[in-house]
Amino acid sequence: SGVQPVDERVARALADIRFKVVVMSGKGGVGKSTVAAYLALGLADKGYKVGLLDVDLHGPSIPRMLGLSSHAVVQEDEQRILPVVYNSNLRVISIESLMPNRESSVIWRGPLKIGVVKQFIGDVMWDHLDFLVIDSPPGTGDVPLTVAQTVEGAYALVVTTPQEIALADVRKSLDFCRQVELPVIGVVENMSGLVCPHCGKEVELFGQGGGEAMAKNLGLDILARLPIDPRIIQAADQGRPLKLMLDDTGSGPAYQQMVAGV
Ligand code: ADP
Repeated sequence: SGVQPVDERVARALADIRFKVVVMSGKGGVGKSTVAAYLALGLADKGYKVGLLDVDLHGPSIPRMLGLSSHAVVQEDEQRILPVVYNSNLRVISIESLMPNRESSVIWRGPLKIGVVKQFIGDVMWDHLDFLVIDSPPGTGDVPLTVAQTVEGAYALVVTTPQEIALADVRKSLDFCRQVELPVIGVVENMSGLVCPHCGKEVELFGQGGGEAMAKNLGLDILARLPIDPRIIQAADQGRPLKLMLDDTGSGPAYQQMVAGV
């Protein structure tokens, strides 16, 4: 008996998952968690078995966004964590739900967090999944690095805004992916234009085509383009996500491209 080494636990935890997608961004606030949540919801809606793993320590917003109040079930004896059932196709776990209170966020300072993140990934019991969507912290720091190195065979989805795509942040993310050998499926451009609340038409706030040109230069596809939509903020505040599919609003069928790309 005794506890398995963490690498073995990780391998076992991820053994029956077809596609692992790490959702990343160069910086915070671009809508990475939103895209991760809606991607997971959309895939589940299409009939796939989906897991959503929130390891964003900066602002674990996934449970609030989905209106999840119930905590993860921890099986003490086997030291395994059961994710929360959101619906018949989607299960969700946030690293936040393991923390008994806010003060315990203290453990996220210092090198301890690397071990905690790795152990967390190894502790969750998913069983069979078609997709595991991972909400990674922004940037290229220790935690995203740990996630990338722990989840073998994963793919990256990079979320950006039209302003950011021309900046160094995205390039840094892409360099990071290259270094850790994380193949990039493509880019989701979020907050691309604004849906007018009065007439419902889309207003281009940041000009158009810039993001696309940049993505082409980098040899990447823009999988979807999501406008700024006040309903997304409302829905997040109320914990009731919209029935919104990434591929309904974007330039192309993001899911098919994703599945074809992996
Ligand atoms: P990140 O994970 O990159 O830090 P979030 O997903 O938490 O970003 O989003 C930051 C804020 O922006 C949240 O309040 C979210 O509801 C809002 N938001 C994200 N995408 C959109 C969008 N397309 N339209 C309107 N609000 C959005």
